[in-house]
Order: sequence, then C-alpha cells, then structure tokens
Amino acid sequence: MTKRLWIETVGCQMNVLDSELVVAALRRQGWEMARGAAEADAVFYNTCSVRQHAEDKIYSALGRVRFEKAKRPGLVVGVLGCMAQKDQELIRTRAPWVDLVVGPGQLHQVPALVADVLAGGGPRIEVSLERKGAARDVIARSFESYDPDRDPAMRPTPFQAFIRTQTGCDKFCAFCVVPHVRGPEQARAPDTIVAEATKLVAEGCREITLIGQTVNSYRWSDGGKTHRLSDLLLRLDGIDGLDRIKFVTNYPRDMTPDLIAAVRDLPKVCHYLHVPAQHGSDAVLARMKRGYTIGQYMEMLALVREELPHAAVTSDFIVGFCGETDAEFETTLDLVRSAGFKNSFIFKYSPRPGTKAFERLPDDVPEEVKRQRNQALLEAQADVSLAGNRRFIGTRQQVLVEGLSTREEKREAAAAAAGAAPADATPDDVVQLSGRTMCDRIVVFDAPRRLVGRLVDVDILDAAAWSLSGVVADGLADAVPLTSLGFTGETEPEVHSITLPRR
Ligand code: SF4
Repeated sequence: MTKRLWIETVGCQMNVLDSELVVAALRRQGWEMARGAAEADAVFYNTCSVRQHAEDKIYSALGRVRFEKAKRPGLVVGVLGCMAQKDQELIRTRAPWVDLVVGPGQLHQVPALVADVLAGGGPRIEVSLERKGAARDVIARSFESYDPDRDPAMRPTPFQAFIRTQTGCDKFCAFCVVPHVRGPEQARAPDTIVAEATKLVAEGCREITLIGQTVNSYRWSDGGKTHRLSDLLLRLDGIDGLDRIKFVTNYPRDMTPDLIAAVRDLPKVCHYLHVPAQHGSDAVLARMKRGYTIGQYMEMLALVREELPHAAVTSDFIVGFCGETDAEFETTLDLVRSAGFKNSFIFKYSPRPGTKAFERLPDDVPEEVKRQRNQALLEAQADVSLAGNRRFIGTRQQVLVEGLSTREEKREAAAAAAGAAPADATPDDVVQLSGRTMCDRIVVFDAPRRLVGRLVDVDILDAAAWSLSGVVADGLADAVPLTSLGFTGETEPEVHSITLPRR
C-alpha cells in the first residue's frame, strides 16, 4: 500500500530546500504526500536552531504527535535538520517516541533510514561530526551536500526554485549556531550548479535564488582558476528562458566590487542585496565577532549605492546582544534611520548553546528591554520602508506574479471552511494577486488568476511599509480597481514556517 508522508519545516530557505529534496527522494520511492499528520505513515519536522523559539515550537509539535504515535505505533516520527545535529540524543531523551534524528549533513540517508525503521530496525540517530576534535576536511566530509534530482511538484511554486551554492559556514559569529550544525563551508562545483539551473528552467522555472549561509563567499578552485560568485552569475545569466536570479545571504566583507559590478551589468540578476549588518556599534560588532566595523559596512554600502542606485538593500539586526547599552542600541537605530534599508529582519538575542557568546558572555539585557528595543527598531524601519516605497508611486514595475495575496488566500480559506471551496474557480476569475519587482518589493493588484507565474507590468498607485499596490499596465488582463478588494498593505513575511507542499 502507498505510504504517505507529512513534513513541517521551520527556519530558513536552506531548510525549505532540504524539505523539497527529502520529499522528492521519498516520492521517487513511491511515497505520496498526506493531507496532515493524522493520515501520514511518517511525520517529519525539519528544524531550526537559530533561536530558542524555533526549537520550542518543535518540542511542542513533538508533544502533540506523541498522541498520534500512541494510537498508531507504526507511525515513523523524524526530527531532521539543525536541531537534530545540535541536540542529537537529547531529542530522544526528551521525546523517546521519535524514531529518526537526522542532521542536515545526513539527509541523503533518510529514505534508507525510514525503510529500516518500517522494517523494525528501531530508532536511529544519524548526525555529522562535531566542529571540534577532528581535522577540518574530516569534519567536512561528514557533512554531505544533499542535492539530488529535483521534483518540480515539491517546490512552493513551479516557477521559482532555490539552488544551493555551498553548505556550512566558517565565519563563527559569536551568537550563531550555524557553523556548528551545518559544518564547514563547502562550495558546489559551478558546472553542477549551472546544470541544475538549466534543468530547472527546462521544467518551467523562471526565477532561481542561489542560497548559501554566506553566498557571496562562494569560491571554487579548479585547474588553477578560482570561480567567484560573480563568475557563477555570469554563466547563469546566459541560460535561455531564465528571467531572474537572486542570491542570499551576503556577508558584508565579501560584497566585493566584482560582485557589485556583476549585479549592475547582468540583466537577469535582481538588484536586491540582503547584507546583514547585525548592529550599528563597533564595540558590539567586535563582541559579536562579525569581522568588520560599521565604517567598513558603510563603505560597502556607499559602493552599492554608487553602482546600483536603485538596488534594494536589506539587513538583519540583533537587539539586546550581551552587554548592549542604551547608547549602543542608539547606534543601531541611527544606522536604520540613515542607511535606507528596504526592510530589516529584527531579532531579540537568543543565547544558543555551543556558541562563543553562550560560553563567554552573559545574556544580561533584560527581556523587557529587548522587547522595547525590538519594537523601537521595527518602528524606525517601518518609517524608512514606507518612505522608500512611496518613491515607487507613479512608476511602472515589472512583477513576477507569485500567487494569491495573503488577503486573497485568507478569503479563499474562509470560503473553503464555510463549505464554499473554490472548485469552480476559473483562470479568468479576478482575484488579488501578489508578486515581486526586480528589487524584491511586494506588489499586490487585482487580475485574473491565470497571470500567476507570469511577468507583468504593474502601474504603482499606492504604497505601504511592506508592499506596493497597483493595476496591471495597459489594461492587460481586465484589471479592476483596487477598491474592489481593499488594500491595507501586506505584512512582511519573516519567520518561515512552511508545510510542503503548498499546492
Ligand atoms: S556569517 Fe555569521 S551569522 Fe551568518 S551563518 Fe555564518 S556564523 Fe552565522
């Protein structure tokens, strides 16, 4: 009988991609997707360890699935990804009903491990080596890059895909658990990446996003030549049928002039650069071991502004890091007010076991102060984002239509819950759609459903802090006035908690 799988994903794009690949591998072995944990033969949680909150969510989910496991002992429960690598046996100590604990460097083993558990082989823990205690290349070999054949049905949309350029990270920022759970930085060969992109485009993909923990640190040495990210972008830009290329996340010191020039000169590369500053104070950046000063960050930003005046630059910030004073926090506020970021992802510091900050620095900023600083920074960024977005009113923007807007999704979900599932929806129904510009700005507009996956020109009529709204240019697609559906502004998508597949 066909086995059914349910997977929940928490965390970054790396995890979204890993889930796609795990699901694809199991589907090739005959598995199908379940509609929920209650009807699945295997339930997986692909986990994140970057913040305590993400881990708490998984332990809560494991508490809930325990009842399902009690009813159906044959159910396979698996914890995959970063938390599996970090907590290892602790997961089974806290949740003994978990059958599989599989780190991000061992995901290629999942199909065999599931088969083994189903055959009565008992629980399995498969993780990579710790970062201490062995030679770097030995540790690196224990983290296998997991990039098997793709499965278009498993992506959040058929026309967008992530491609991994490298795994791991060697920067060891004091607050970050990633180098410990994702292992040493290891690049994939450029030929492999280009071949994967070419195949994805042949399957209908129009936008690819290259992902790496520090994607712009990409280096691949081959026959005396070193291939950088700029070289890779040049090759990808030449793929017929591909419309857009993005890359995340960037490390400020590796935002080199050749890369900025590549973004400027290659027509398919989006003018969107996510370059986390993390803080505005040199003293805090030093405590964070980020490896640059705020002056160096601003020099990099000045070069970006000079070469790419319309680029959207975005950042991450941590508030309440160890010892952060009011004056130090003010420097971050000043940076946000002056740097013109399109948006920022703002997080309260969360100490992570295994990191230098956890071991050596007290988590001494009270939670209430962290909360206040978080709110103040969010408000400052919202003002900057709104001002930035208003500059687009009256312009025409090319938009890749990603799907229904959040408002429309909620409307359809409510209709379905009320028993009016959109079974008779047609491609010509006018609904509120959502897409992104070349500089990653969200645009909502009313248009027929059939435009999803297409590039359309949209005249921008209004702006909110996190999105723009408009009408399809030249009356294409029977665009109707926005007032028919209302517009209050999308909320910025931030924490990724995704259940695959979405369709
Ligand atoms: S660069 Fe720093 S913050 Fe980014 S993944 Fe590496 S250690 Fe973590």
